[in-house]
Amino acid sequence: MPDMRSLLRVGSEGPDVPVDLTAIDPQSTPGLPGRKVTGSDPKLWARGEVERIGAELATQQEMLFAQGTVEPELGRSVLLVLQAMDCGGKDGAVKRVAGAMNPLGLHIKAFGPPTPEERRHDFLWRIRKALPPAGYVGVFNRSHYEDVLVVRVMGLAPESVWRPRYKKINDFERRLVDSGTAVVKVMLHISHDEQRERLLSRLDDPTKQWKFNPDDLEARARWDDYQEAYAEALARCSDAAPWHVLPANRKWYRDWALAHLLRETFADLKLSYPKPEYDVDAQRRRLEADG
Ligand code: AMP
Ligand code: MG
Repeated sequence: MPDMRSLLRVGSEGPDVPVDLTAIDPQSTPGLPGRKVTGSDPKLWARGEVERIGAELATQQEMLFAQGTVEPELGRSVLLVLQAMDCGGKDGAVKRVAGAMNPLGLHIKAFGPPTPEERRHDFLWRIRKALPPAGYVGVFNRSHYEDVLVVRVMGLAPESVWRPRYKKINDFERRLVDSGTAVVKVMLHISHDEQRERLLSRLDDPTKQWKFNPDDLEARARWDDYQEAYAEALARCSDAAPWHVLPANRKWYRDWALAHLLRETFADLKLSYPKPEYDVDAQRRRLEADG
């Protein structure tokens, strides 16, 4: 089994070389074992693996939570940052992968257009407020990267405002990592055609129509500009916490690969259940005497 983080990592050519997204096929399945392992139905196999890995993630998260409770000063937490074009599958990925963990220890936050109050602050203000406390797993559904993506593409601020943000983001993420947060950043990469299919299926399904926003078509019309903005952001901001591009046309591969990325992130933390500071035998004797 290859290390999925190294397989999907981008930006290794340096901050000035935009990530070539056209070279990453959204339909591909890097790292997926062959039929010898998966059998004849890789989709079914991957779904089973996601359940199995999900149980492992739940245990890891519980150990993180226990450590955060007993030793909050270590500041250990995990932050998953998810970015994608509309219909990229962020909600589905959160549901299927983060959904395996205990909701009590999860901090899930979706970022939409900033509120008037948020607009009165620096772009990282609302991000800092949403960071997972020690012991928690945070999930950002969109993030501070919107401030160099939609803001850039839709011209919501001039370049003199958004360009310095790459450095601000790197500095921010450096401090975050140094203070004990394991950050895993993932762009769910879908194709232009796949987005069209998914938007159409939203329109076709009365239970999904609420997810459609006519503005999504404005963003779709600027697809190439978005890809360019992503290409630059991924390269410029893979400093403290590298970006991963996850081919996401196939939902089952998306969930499987994301589960692995999280598992590898947890493995680095070398978590264990904290040893109690009280004397277990002494406490047991007290209870036994209390017959
Ligand atoms: P959704 O994730 O589909 O609910 O859509 C959220 C919308 O909020 C997307 O269109 C984003 O581009 C937009 N959004 C998120 N962050 C920002 C931001 N910092 N500035 C402007 N728009 C944003
Ligand atoms: Mg949307």
